[in-house]
Amino acid sequence: MRPSRGITELLHRKLRQIGSLVDVEDTSMANTASLIHTNANKPNTVTIVAFSIFHIGAIAALFNFSWINLWVSLGIYWLTISWGIGMGYHRLLTHRGYKCPMWFERLVAILGAACLEGGPIFWVATHRVHHQKSDQPGDPHSPRDGAWWAHLIWMCVGDAKHSDTKGLSKYAPDLARDPFMVWLNNWHWLPLATIGVVLWFFGGFSMVLWGVFLRVTLGLHSTWLVNSATHLWGARRFETTDDSKNNWLVAILTFGEGWHNNHHAHPVSARHGLAWYEIDMTYIQLFLLSKLGIVRDLQVASVEGYIPVRKAA
Ligand SMILES: [Zn+2]
Ligand SMILES: [Zn+2]
Repeated sequence: MRPSRGITELLHRKLRQIGSLVDVEDTSMANTASLIHTNANKPNTVTIVAFSIFHIGAIAALFNFSWINLWVSLGIYWLTISWGIGMGYHRLLTHRGYKCPMWFERLVAILGAACLEGGPIFWVATHRVHHQKSDQPGDPHSPRDGAWWAHLIWMCVGDAKHSDTKGLSKYAPDLARDPFMVWLNNWHWLPLATIGVVLWFFGGFSMVLWGVFLRVTLGLHSTWLVNSATHLWGARRFETTDDSKNNWLVAILTFGEGWHNNHHAHPVSARHGLAWYEIDMTYIQLFLLSKLGIVRDLQVASVEGYIPVRKAA
């Protein structure tokens, strides 16, 4: 592990590094950082304000506890993080680890958008760049540039690219062909706003604090831990060229995404927890969905093998 350094120093170093890419037209993989960070020498005020408001709302939720608020919040957390991010944005849209009907693909994409992690094209483009350049120059969020950089600072500088659907589409041409995904990428905040209105109607402002602000904030940190903690701490089963680790705590928080070294070794595998003790709740649900005939062609890696074994459901 690298020695800890001041956040300010890390930020300045990273800004100098990616600042050289500003105004470079080339969007080849060699210059992927410019895709994510144009005008990287200035703070992204919109993102910083949004993150701040959600953190304040999350703290306010703690003073408005009720059991119904807790259960509603946990239910939406499960649907949006496990189904939306794990099953949807990550294992389906980014890596195509299984096949499913169009309605299912769009449902999990909507749930993913409700996590305030950007639209599907933004998320998938960023994550594909991460796999392409993992822990090398061009990785949008490597802890080699600082743990806090990888956790959240990388999103807090430069222009927000969430709605730059055209630019991002180069990295997710498969999604850009679907008008629904383009629409959802442009209106990625809409599912979360809809959840907020529904919760307000049924449970008042305290339920909004729990089901939107606290739930989103915890979901953000859980997902961000995959970018920071699982490239810093944990066990390595596979000698991948990056720093990815298997981290059981992050795996619990994210329903299985914490088995990140397994994932970097087998990106296409819909199953991330490979050993019996590596609980992967998202894969367990995918397995059950395959038995119900809703999803099919699950790509499943084995502990021993390095290449995912194609396995029909
Ligand atoms: Zn990674
Ligand atoms: Zn991935």
